[in-house]
Amino acid sequence: MVLSKMKRKLFPLLVGGVFCVVVMSLYRMLEMMQGAELQHLEAPAGQDFYRLQQQIDKLERLLSANNRLVVTLRDSLLHRQAPQGGGGAVNVSAGSAHSPADAPPGCRLAQGMKGRADGVQLLDVYNLLPFDNADGGAWKQGFEISYRGNEWDEQPLEVLLVPHSHNDPGWLKTFENYYQDQTRHILNNMLIKLTEDSRRKMIWAEISYFSKWWNDIDEQKREMVKRLVGAGQLELVTGGWVMADEANSHYFALLDQLIEGHQWIQRHLGVRPRSGWAVDPFGHSPSMAYLLKGAGLSNMVIQRVHYAVKKHFAQQQTLEFLWRQSWDSSPRSDITCHMMPFYSYDVPHTCGPNPAVCCQFDFHRLPGGRAMCPWKKSPQPITEQNVQERALLLLDQYRQKSRLFRSHVLLVPLGDDFRFVEASEWDAQSGNYQKLFDYFDQHPELHVKARFGTLSDYFEALHRRLDAMGTALPALRGDFFTYADRDDHYWSGYFTSRPFYKRLDRTLEATLRATEILFSLALAEMRRFRGDGLLVADFPVREHFRRLTAGRRSLALFQHHDGITGTSRDPVVGNVMFNRTLLPFRSLIIFNPTEQLRSSVISVVVDSPDADVVDATTGQPMAAQISAVWAEPTQASTEQFQLLSLNLESNQDKSGAYLFLPGEEGLYSSSEPPLVRVSRGPVFSDITSCFRHFTHTVRLLSAPGHAGRSLEISNMVDIRSEFNRELVMRLVSDVANGNRFYSDLNGFQMQQRRTLQKLPLQANFYPMTSAAFLQDATSRMSLLSAQSQAVASLRPGELEVVLDRRLQQDDNRGLGQGVTDNKLTASLYHLLLEDRRGGAEVRGRGSVKCGGKQHQHDIFSSVEHMSLLAHLTSLSLNHLPITMVAPSDSQVPKLRPFLPLRSSLPCDVHLLNLRTLEDSQESDSPSQEVALLLHRKGFDCSSAPQAPLQCTWSAQEEVDTHIHVIIINVNCKVVKMTYVIHVMYITSYIKYSSLQVDLDRLFSPLRFHSVRRSGLTLLREDDQPESARQPAPPHVARLRPMEISAFRVEVA
Ligand SMILES: [Zn+2]
Repeated sequence: MVLSKMKRKLFPLLVGGVFCVVVMSLYRMLEMMQGAELQHLEAPAGQDFYRLQQQIDKLERLLSANNRLVVTLRDSLLHRQAPQGGGGAVNVSAGSAHSPADAPPGCRLAQGMKGRADGVQLLDVYNLLPFDNADGGAWKQGFEISYRGNEWDEQPLEVLLVPHSHNDPGWLKTFENYYQDQTRHILNNMLIKLTEDSRRKMIWAEISYFSKWWNDIDEQKREMVKRLVGAGQLELVTGGWVMADEANSHYFALLDQLIEGHQWIQRHLGVRPRSGWAVDPFGHSPSMAYLLKGAGLSNMVIQRVHYAVKKHFAQQQTLEFLWRQSWDSSPRSDITCHMMPFYSYDVPHTCGPNPAVCCQFDFHRLPGGRAMCPWKKSPQPITEQNVQERALLLLDQYRQKSRLFRSHVLLVPLGDDFRFVEASEWDAQSGNYQKLFDYFDQHPELHVKARFGTLSDYFEALHRRLDAMGTALPALRGDFFTYADRDDHYWSGYFTSRPFYKRLDRTLEATLRATEILFSLALAEMRRFRGDGLLVADFPVREHFRRLTAGRRSLALFQHHDGITGTSRDPVVGNVMFNRTLLPFRSLIIFNPTEQLRSSVISVVVDSPDADVVDATTGQPMAAQISAVWAEPTQASTEQFQLLSLNLESNQDKSGAYLFLPGEEGLYSSSEPPLVRVSRGPVFSDITSCFRHFTHTVRLLSAPGHAGRSLEISNMVDIRSEFNRELVMRLVSDVANGNRFYSDLNGFQMQQRRTLQKLPLQANFYPMTSAAFLQDATSRMSLLSAQSQAVASLRPGELEVVLDRRLQQDDNRGLGQGVTDNKLTASLYHLLLEDRRGGAEVRGRGSVKCGGKQHQHDIFSSVEHMSLLAHLTSLSLNHLPITMVAPSDSQVPKLRPFLPLRSSLPCDVHLLNLRTLEDSQESDSPSQEVALLLHRKGFDCSSAPQAPLQCTWSAQEEVDTHIHVIIINVNCKVVKMTYVIHVMYITSYIKYSSLQVDLDRLFSPLRFHSVRRSGLTLLREDDQPESARQPAPPHVARLRPMEISAFRVEVA
């Protein structure tokens, strides 16, 4: 449902007539992915020997051409790699590293952030953990916890019981059905029950549901909600549109759904979220911690962490820590994080280590109801007769759990999925718990205080206690992938499950971003045009803004941890249908949505081979290449890439939507002979290999700038005919990376990975949102990806990504089905080979304490950044030029280039978004305020490119004029055949000043009334009282490497 909803909302996303065309092109592309059927060249009949001979000859010729092309491609890459004047050598000697003095400033700063050794490094923890899965007794994955009983004599135990209800916006049911059947009742009852008794509390995370409910309730109820929020009885935690997945989601979308939620909360409730709550995402990313901190949150809770890591952290009393970004040398990014110690977030796993006991304190499972305890001991209603025995039983669990933490404040969540649907559940939980709390109050000798609380109540108490004790929490760096909940059940399957939608998500994201930027610029242009700050009268601005909001919310909803993960039921996923339409067109409008000058190949389907391309402004012909749209595939293989599949033949537990439990690994084999298709031309050359289950294309663009420096790889995968199969693309190189490789987290940062033999194969797969690389001292191989997938480096020099999975069975994580709704699925990458100049790997020795023993280990630089070239390549790959087709010349008579940016941004600065904010008075209307989000990337110095890039990082470099939108005409006659025209358009470039971004110069001719730095979700109270309020420019913004900066700008 998430996606069928998305389909309905895709259209409202459009801004203005021109954008219809954007999405129609998008539809067309996707429809082509869907509609095209793989056709196989039939094996020649045995009697037709002559035809067979002909085919073999043809094949030989093609293979020979293929080999020549491979050699050409390789030479071409090596040539690009070679140092200037250094001949053609591949390997460049180590030790010629950039000296800090000649490194670009951003590089120097990023370098300074590398290899920090303070605090706990999760990579080191992984190195020393035995992963032996020992039986811990009552707490199966942990250990026996002991206490004397006098630990709390001085400082009593302070228990905060936090009622919560986990509401998936789509999983087994659709968002709408969950809302109607459960969620609205939960919120209605919450309103009544919290109002009845001021001691009751509740937290709520999903603003998608909350805002829907808000629309349904009357003004009186809204006032009641505001009172509850004001009184601290109801707390909105995290405040995102959804509880987002943290593995597959890109940081653009993660932040966007957070902005959408926070803006809603500010507008309707006038408060801000202070604590994060992520109990169900399948693994946790520091990128999320960074965004929450940047959005003004001080604390966060996480839950789904590998059971062995939980156990280790419990032993070390490090379940509460300051989560620090790996690259941050300061505590600026620190956020207090609480990791739940036990198996789950339900009541049996939150009161203490023994689920059989804790379940007896889930009063929703009282005998006679629908829910039961699987441990055979049911809860009992608390009475005068049993209160002492029950209170002491519960206190024992609280005390045991408390021993895992440094302070005497204890967080005890009380809830589960879709809880508190009925009023009676409120009465059962709060009534019985209140009796237990009262009993504790009446027995001061027990040294315990317990009450209902919100998450912020807990963290306030925690910080008070820690301050009083003079205790600081340890700092921790790293991430919590790959999650295992028990045994060898690693949740790496969902890194790839339903790859069609993961690709679609990224396409929608890029379209939304481009639309946001164009919309903001269009409004500003109109205001400027009139000169009085008002919009052109007949412009349907509210209509467009509503559609834009719908687009934002569709993307946001899909970031849910059962959305982009591919772990919801088939009817929830829905079907996205596309109709193929061929438009009679003549003019193309191309929008470059990046902040950089770029050269791109634009591919257009036309109906005649007799076509040429003319620059609309100059009338000059442009370089173009015409190639056929292939009706029949040919087949080929390249020397560098092999494809293989993993068969699932074990009788044991099998892979499903969440889990990856591979059987035997085998090379892909095909009974049909390999056939090759080679294209050569002035714009690009490529090799396409067509196998039964996939088409694999490797393409080299003959383009200036970074576009021509990498190999483009695309796959079209179809495993619908298969049974329990997972298809993997493996890249084999001679990079001596040992067992280390790097994969990105949410497109925001790189994380070192170590392939560990002590872990099963599926544990060595990690999420790759947009990039992965292997490196040794002299070279680096980066794979940049346009979709999220699972990645691993199982052997030195190898990198593999899981392309698709078709799984017939459920994996017992609640979904109740396999994944068999596979589609014809495209995946797209760029492969980049770069020299490194002296990338020393080991940076010294360190030690880690475990089980009372001190372990020595090498300190590696755990932080690496992508090179500038890789950043630019990734940017181009994820933000393809947007081609809009105008119906005819006559209807768009006066097209001319539109140049909103005066200059390219520096190489390392990304215009993350230019997002129009809603008017504070008038809902559904845009304000004059725009959220300007700039991300300054950290980049690697050791692989700085020899040839200068087209953008610049230094204050002095100068370039020419930047053209951001270019218009060309395609002239073609109408005949029956369908052809593709590949149009190359080249823009020239511009001037840029410094790392201090001068915002006025940047957006010239636009002018900013004001520029105020704000929090990442643009909450008003985060706005810095700012010099930029002053009317006179310049409005200069300082940007730190790795950091995202948010500005509230008023466009004149
Ligand atoms: Zn969930």
